[in-house]
Amino acid sequence: MALLVLKFGGTSVADLDRIRNVAQHVKREVEAGNACAVVVSAMAGETNRLVALTREAAPLHDAREYDAVVSSGEQVTSGLLAITLQSMGIPARSWLGWQVPFRTDGAHGAARITEIPAAEIRARLLDRGEVAVVAGFQGIGPDNRITTLGRGGSDTSAVALAAAIGADRCDIYTDVDGVYTTDPRIVPKARRLEAISYEEMLEMASQGAKVLQTRSVELAMVRGVRVLVRSSFEAPDTLPAAGREEGRVPGTLVCGEDEIVEQQVVSGIAYAKDEAKVTLLGVADKPGVAARVFGPLAEANINVDMIVQNVTPDGKHTDMTFTVQTSDLERAMKVIEGARSDIGDFDLRGSTDVVKVSVIGIGMRSHAGVAARMFQALADKGINIEAISTSEIKISILIDAAYTELAVRTLHSLYGLDAD
Ligand code: ASP
Ligand code: MG
Repeated sequence: MALLVLKFGGTSVADLDRIRNVAQHVKREVEAGNACAVVVSAMAGETNRLVALTREAAPLHDAREYDAVVSSGEQVTSGLLAITLQSMGIPARSWLGWQVPFRTDGAHGAARITEIPAAEIRARLLDRGEVAVVAGFQGIGPDNRITTLGRGGSDTSAVALAAAIGADRCDIYTDVDGVYTTDPRIVPKARRLEAISYEEMLEMASQGAKVLQTRSVELAMVRGVRVLVRSSFEAPDTLPAAGREEGRVPGTLVCGEDEIVEQQVVSGIAYAKDEAKVTLLGVADKPGVAARVFGPLAEANINVDMIVQNVTPDGKHTDMTFTVQTSDLERAMKVIEGARSDIGDFDLRGSTDVVKVSVIGIGMRSHAGVAARMFQALADKGINIEAISTSEIKISILIDAAYTELAVRTLHSLYGLDAD
């Protein structure tokens, strides 16, 4: 018998038919003797609708009341799934965030979980065999008011609950059947990964492969929760229950490195289109200039990602390029203009026609030459690299957005990721 947390996102509980389908997945696990806590999101689109209502009521509003409103979508789906399970003869009850309880800090709208005293829920799961249907996304703050965990937060609810009850696995059901080596929409030869390490998943997630909320992966890594990303759209009765998989686990397991048997040098290629490039041409090349550029950006809470600085032939001036989120570009340009008197003379350019392509893999730690091969392959295709940044397990390059597909495809086959 396994103790499981199953999480279903908005598209998986979009209407009563989909909720019945979810109940079938739960039934399969229960009938195999597994104890299940099920975490649900609101019906697809519901949270957006609720957020819009709060804004319409008053553009500036009390964050505590925002949470009271937007958390309600999960109350509905947890109750509906409990009713559906009961009607199938499966003992179940709903648990709202405050009932579990998910204790959080007081940062309404983006609260962090501080503690989950889950003894009661665990006992009921194990002793009574009662399915716990838990409203995701919700918590209770120090002031006893309802909090929410930030958009996409029910992934984090599920992982945190799995850690608190000591679950064997946290199955995240979504509308894709796992994590792919890259976006299958641009590379049809992309493959589903059997397993990926937490660290790689974090890079994939923050690089634009939007499968799991980043915070949930960080939490899974810290608490050692094994997470299986899988599809709720596969027919529930065609899949093996946990413990009966015998080799064929349907989905991608996000786990510690030690559990990954066949480690590739590169596990995946990610790309992010929401990068924008800012260039300062001809700034003075002397101590303190970088601080005068990046200080004001930090103060304005603008995250800078890649940074490149060139030397110009006269040795006295330099060109400085950095990237920010596209949504921050206008603000970043204003901040730099505002600091002009401190920075000195320069020409300022901004562009959104760039994309960041990243090659990710923990195997890079022990293999030299990954970057060199990457640069050569791109050069052979005539793709110019405008900026580079690296970490221990990732190499990112900035290129003209027009070459996104060509670059991703080229790198995908270069590192042997293409499906046969
Ligand atoms: N319903 C919430 C949202 O849409 C939480 C979630 O889906 O994870 O952000
Ligand atoms: Mg989600």
